[in-house]
Amino acid sequence: MIKSLAVLGSTGSIGVQALEVARLHGLKIEALTAGSRIDILENQIREFLPAVAAVADEKAARELKVRVADTPTKVLSGEKGVCECAACSAESVLNSIVGIAGLAPTVSAIEAGSDIALANKETLVAGGKFVMALAKEKGVSILPVDSEHSAIFQSLQGCADKKQIKRLILTASGGPFFGKKKEELENVTIEQALNHPNWSMGAKITIDSATMMNKGLELIEAAWLFGMPAKDIDIVVHRQSIVHSLVEYSDNSVIAQLGVPDMRIPIQYALTYPDRFESPVRQLDLTEFGTLTFEKPDYETFSCINLCRRAFEKGGLYPAAVNAANEKANELFRQGKIGFLDIARAVSNALETAPQKNDYSLGDVFETDRLIRSQTERLFL
Ligand code: NAD
Ligand code: MG
Repeated sequence: MIKSLAVLGSTGSIGVQALEVARLHGLKIEALTAGSRIDILENQIREFLPAVAAVADEKAARELKVRVADTPTKVLSGEKGVCECAACSAESVLNSIVGIAGLAPTVSAIEAGSDIALANKETLVAGGKFVMALAKEKGVSILPVDSEHSAIFQSLQGCADKKQIKRLILTASGGPFFGKKKEELENVTIEQALNHPNWSMGAKITIDSATMMNKGLELIEAAWLFGMPAKDIDIVVHRQSIVHSLVEYSDNSVIAQLGVPDMRIPIQYALTYPDRFESPVRQLDLTEFGTLTFEKPDYETFSCINLCRRAFEKGGLYPAAVNAANEKANELFRQGKIGFLDIARAVSNALETAPQKNDYSLGDVFETDRLIRSQTERLFL
C-alpha cells in the first residue's frame, strides 16, 4: 500500500472521506487543499500536519496562514498554490476538487510523477486527451474513485486482452426525478433537486445527478479511462445503487462489482490497489434489498446524457464545452437565477456553438471553458 498521500479538495464530501481512509491506514498526508472553507482545513492541518497546504481563495489563504502559524505547515494560495501542493511528490494524489478547477492540479501531479486517485471527473471530460497521454508518458497510474469507474476497473481485473471487452455498462441511480417527465420538471426547486435518494455528495454533483448530466460526464470519463468508444458504453438505471457498474466480455459473460452505496470503498481501493483491506463500510446483505431493478434511462427527459455522448463523438473541444456550460448553468440554478431545465438548454447550446478544432492544445481547453462559461451566463442574464 502507498505510504504518502496528498488530498486536493480535502474539505469536500470525497476529501473528508479520503482522510478517514487515510487515518484508518496511517497514511502520511503530504498536502491538503481547499477552495475557501478554512475552518475544516485548519482542523485537518492540525490533525495531519502536512508539509504544505493551499487555499484557492487568496483572502481565505491569508487568514489560514495566520491561524496555523504555530504548525509546521506552509500555506500557499491561489490556483498556483493548489498546483504546487499537487506537485508535492506524494506517492498518490487524490483529486477531489469539484469542476474544471481540478484539471490543472491533475496535470501538475502527473508531471511530478505521482499516481492519481481521481474523483474529479471534469479533469478527464475536458482534458482527457492530454491527461491520458501525459500519464502514459510519465508512467503514472490513474486510478478511478468515481464508484462506477471503480466498479468497472475492479470488474476488469484479470482481463488479459482488451479486445475481449465487449461493452461497459454504467449504472445510474436516476436521481430524485426518475420517472418524471419534462413538463413536471420546469418548476422544480433547488431543495427538491438536492434531495438525492442514495448518495450524500457535494452540491454540484448532486444537481448533476438530478439532471443526469452526471451520467453523461461519466460516460466520457469511462471512454477516456478505459479507451472504449462511446457506442460500447451503455447506461442502465438501477434505483438501489447496489450494482455499481458492469463489464460485458466477448463470451457475453458479465462481471459486476456490488456493495452498499458508500464512497469509502472506491476511495480505499484507489489507494490500496491491487490489495484489499478491511474497511469501515458495512457489509452488503442482499436479502435486505430482495429485489434489484434495472431500467432504460428516459433520454428525452434527461437529455444531458445524449448531449454528452454526442459531444464525445464529435471530439475536439466539444466535451470541454458541454462541461463548461453545465458547470456554469448548474451554479446559476443553485443561485436561483435559472430554472432546472435551463441547465440542459445551456448544455445543448454549447454543443451547437463550441469552437471546432481537431488539433487543439490544453490551452484551448481552458480558453473554451472561459468562453462557454461567459456565453452561458449571457444566454440567461
Ligand atoms: P464538494 O463540493 O463536496 O467538494 C469540493 C472540494 O473542492 C472542496 O474541498 C472545495 O473546497 C474544493 N474546491 C472548490 N472549488 C475549488 C477551486 N476553485 N479550486 C480548488 N479547490 C476547490 O464536492 P464532492 O462531492 O466531494 O466532489 C468532488 C469531485 O468528485 C467532483 O468532481 C465530483 O463529480 C466527484 N465525485 C464525487 C462523488 C461524491 O460522492 N461526492 C462521487 C463521485 C465523484
Ligand atoms: Mg459516479
